Amino acid sequence: MSEQLINEIRDTLASARSQFEYLSDLGIEGQAVGPLGTDHDQGCAESPAGLQETLNAIRTELGDCQRCGLAASRTKLVYGVGNPNARLVLVGEAPGRDEDLSGEPFVGEAGQLLDRILLAMGMQREAVYLCNVLKCHPPNNRDPEPQEIATCEAFLVRQLAAIRPQVIVGLGRFAVQSLLKTKTPISRLRGEWQRYQGIPLMPTYHPAYLLRNPEGKRDVWTDMKEVLRLLNSEDDGS
Ligand code: URA
Repeated sequence: MSEQLINEIRDTLASARSQFEYLSDLGIEGQAVGPLGTDHDQGCAESPAGLQETLNAIRTELGDCQRCGLAASRTKLVYGVGNPNARLVLVGEAPGRDEDLSGEPFVGEAGQLLDRILLAMGMQREAVYLCNVLKCHPPNNRDPEPQEIATCEAFLVRQLAAIRPQVIVGLGRFAVQSLLKTKTPISRLRGEWQRYQGIPLMPTYHPAYLLRNPEGKRDVWTDMKEVLRLLNSEDDGS
């Protein structure tokens, strides 16, 4: 057997184990949903070509951003990662320490839990697009300040307009409240479909919250099954 094949088998087994662990954490037995066929790389919903901006152009415009005070303390700006044609975009709050060092969203402990949630949904992180409301790490993980959100949000708005996914998942209070321009608590919003610029948005708990409150995992799984249901129904054309 070739080394490549052995590595592929090892990766597949690791994914299956991770998926199983998340589901068994929830008390759910067996395999999740085989949701979107094998091709997660299909193009997104219709989007007027003239309005499309490329993600690279937006990143270039951000440049070595000095638009708010977070620039002074950041290590790396964390723009976003994943499939530019993603059908699903997940939006978090702000880079944590691990993300600040690596320049990639959701690579720390919360990100690893998010990977497990995605795997339980039958998706690899490469199939989706991950980004945050803030592009820079707030020192000591403090909450984002309204002025920082106001300054940075324009770039998130443009990323979402460029991708125009079929579904957005808002992870946690700051992402959901910023996108929806509401002060309604996440506990009231979660699990209920909302709309962001005409795109269905599912508010759910942030994976960092789940690390502190594992009992919330079941709610998140309920929300993600709704997300899969909608994506699958769009697959069927129903
Ligand atoms: N928390 C977030 O909201 N985003 C990240 O990228 C990492 C942790």
